[in-house]
Amino acid sequence: IIQLYTPLNWFGTYYRMIQNSFIDMENMFELFAEDQEVKDVVNAPELRFHAGKIEFENVHFSYLDGKEILRDVSFSVMPGQTVALVGPSGSGKSTIIRLLFRFYDVKGGSVRVDGQDTSTVLQASLRSHIGVVPQDTVLFNDTIRNNIRYGRVTASDREVEEAAMAADIHDRIVSFRDGYDTQVGERGLKLSGGEKQRVAIARTILKSPQIVLLDEATSALDTETERNIQASLARVCANRTTVVVAHRLSTVINADQILVLKDGQILERGRHEELLTKGGIYSGMWQKQQSGTEESSDSDTERKDRS
Ligand code: ATP
Repeated sequence: IIQLYTPLNWFGTYYRMIQNSFIDMENMFELFAEDQEVKDVVNAPELRFHAGKIEFENVHFSYLDGKEILRDVSFSVMPGQTVALVGPSGSGKSTIIRLLFRFYDVKGGSVRVDGQDTSTVLQASLRSHIGVVPQDTVLFNDTIRNNIRYGRVTASDREVEEAAMAADIHDRIVSFRDGYDTQVGERGLKLSGGEKQRVAIARTILKSPQIVLLDEATSALDTETERNIQASLARVCANRTTVVVAHRLSTVINADQILVLKDGQILERGRHEELLTKGGIYSGMWQKQQSGTEESSDSDTERKDRS
């Protein structure tokens, strides 16, 4: 069972954590508000949100001219479902998530939410429906209470605490001398990676978005922490359309759809069992993963509470 909580090491590659980790984009927009890549068209309407269906249709994308990063990527995620992105480092997984948040505009094809091309609607309205749990969360130099409240600035103290409880960080916070008034961030108390991720989860719980974008941590956390994080993540993703860059076995096993990316293309797609039966790239990755670990998997005993 311990194996379920250890990070996946697809293809045995290492993840370039700093360059490619999914930084807290919402913070990025605050910091670089004047220098946005993406502009709203004049009189762009708000996104008319229904249920949170996501579609990528023949998406092409490059950061720099000449080097195509996504090549003809098409997939759809039905409302409330979870899609897991797997593949080697640099295959374009985080790029897909950035495009969904409209951090960049596509070079060809379209990204749609509930049938509307995201490049035609107000960015702010799109982003108001999307919650992001990055791999490495940036904390502001402020109290832990305000750091959580950032998920929804109008939330009451009670709601902040309820979100912290759901994210399994409340007990930790009240153990600090100043409790919720503890200063965190660069100039305050330093939180561990697992604690910061739980702050991000608490923010997302407060925001209560219908779409969740999640970049699972690659760093190994202790089993207990990992178990708590998995449980709180399952809570935040329940009944929400979720796109996850997956590094956890339990995530891929439970996903409604797995997309296997390589060099910016989707090479295989399906559920875990389907892909294993197919005997292609995914099943090769799986076998490699299995032979790299001593334990046999009794993964099915560990289902996310997502129905
Ligand atoms: P990892 O698992 O390492 O996070 P990934 O599959 O998420 O990888 P992406 O972060 O989507 O991969 O990157 C895909 C490619 O795009 C890589 O070759 C990367 O070097 C390149 N890339 C990513 N961000 C930028 C950027 N801001 N400018 C230029 N190239 C970039």
